[in-house]
Amino acid sequence: MLAGKNSVLRQDIVFRLSLWYALILLLLFTISFISFSFLAKTRMGKKAEKEALAYVDECKSIFQSEGLEGLRKDFLLETHASGAGNASLSILNSKGLILITSDSSKWQNFAVQYDMLNLALDRDKPVMGFISVPGFNNKVIVVYARLSPDKILRIAHLLRRDEIFLYDLQKTLIVVMAITLVTVIIAGWLMLKQVIGRVVVVTNTALSIKGSSLSKRVPVSGLMDEVDHLAQAFNNMLDKIESLVKSQQEITDNVAHDLRIPLTRIRLIAESLLTARGEKTDSQESVSIIIEESDRLLEMINTMLEIKSIEMGIAVWDLTDVDVAEVVKQACEFFQLAAEDKGLTLNLKQVISFVVKADLRCLQRVFSNLIDNAVKYTPPGGNIEITMRAVNNEIAVEISDTGIGIAPDALPRIFERFYRGDKSRNISGLGLGLSLAETIIKAHGGRIKVESTVGNGSTFTVFLPGCRPANNMTK
Ligand code: ADP
Repeated sequence: MLAGKNSVLRQDIVFRLSLWYALILLLLFTISFISFSFLAKTRMGKKAEKEALAYVDECKSIFQSEGLEGLRKDFLLETHASGAGNASLSILNSKGLILITSDSSKWQNFAVQYDMLNLALDRDKPVMGFISVPGFNNKVIVVYARLSPDKILRIAHLLRRDEIFLYDLQKTLIVVMAITLVTVIIAGWLMLKQVIGRVVVVTNTALSIKGSSLSKRVPVSGLMDEVDHLAQAFNNMLDKIESLVKSQQEITDNVAHDLRIPLTRIRLIAESLLTARGEKTDSQESVSIIIEESDRLLEMINTMLEIKSIEMGIAVWDLTDVDVAEVVKQACEFFQLAAEDKGLTLNLKQVISFVVKADLRCLQRVFSNLIDNAVKYTPPGGNIEITMRAVNNEIAVEISDTGIGIAPDALPRIFERFYRGDKSRNISGLGLGLSLAETIIKAHGGRIKVESTVGNGSTFTVFLPGCRPANNMTK
């Protein structure tokens, strides 16, 4: 049904475009043809005019030297040269009476044009016109020229040869234009059909994508024309939608998984509390587990909301001048005990005072998350080192550990929401720490870089724009 509709649509567009194409071509051809015919006729008229005037001059000189007899002879020669019946040469008196003529029977119906005769009598210059003569299909050029006060020369010449030539030329032109028109329309129609056919493939692919079947792609011909660009843009869009749907599905799975565990625990404990009513149970411990799990859930929801609000640009910042060195120092002090408990050394190697415009609480969360991760993912006996470098108007805080490291295929994903590495599954966490840290740092105009080797450890570097304070100090 849809294929049928598409084919009708294609036919329709191809037909309509071809029709427009044909009409425009036809219009252009018609305009060219009319202009050409007009120009050719004008030129031919001018040529005939020139020839007639030259003959008038010739006749005048013959009349002066040889009189009417000379003209009679010349008329015979001239009509013979022009082809039998093509010309009429006469001498008329001032009343319009024919004194001598070369006329054959063909010119019997050729009357005297008295208006032209009278005009010619009054002026030295010849009087000329193109007229239709009964019995002839072609136009006739007529010239009246005064030889003496009562002798008028009349030249009439059929434009037959020129008009036949023009007519033949026009016929050839019409045939050539018709062949060109048909060829161009057929070629245009075929090309359009091919192009529209490729666009229809894109449409059909779009229509065939339903629900989760996002794996289909439009074939790219390799011609790299506009249709290929359309196909590529469409395929790129599908790639993006596919990866978006995939990550969306993963997030949903992760959220569901992360919600199910604490909720199941809460439910089980609440159930045991209910069934053990009156019996002696450690209800205080149960309640504290419920609180702990509820806190975990709340933290997850709050962190998600926080990331979203920063991404959407609706987060409310409490921006002040913050010394990054102080924030890093405090975070180190905070995690010192946990590191020692786990048998790790946590050293703050180089501290550079560097002021950034930031939300103190958010910055504290960033460095806490990074140091917390270093502690979490470094096995006992390992080292964690924190150093600071100031380059121009940027501070780089490096947190290096000798921990489990991150697999190369996991590296590009660790900043995704809810992403947790395979080896981290048995270590507590929500998979939101790095996502939140990166969102905060980006919102402060900075960036986070990570380098890691599995089994050797990881280095997270936070870059933040700012400046060194006036009383610059290095500890
Ligand atoms: P969480 O630590 O709660 O799992 P994060 O967003 O902080 O969530 O980190 C995402 C993942 O990145 C972790 O699950 C872990 O696989 C990996 N990761 C982060 N920091 C480190 C690190 N210092 N060493 C090794 N892996 C790390």
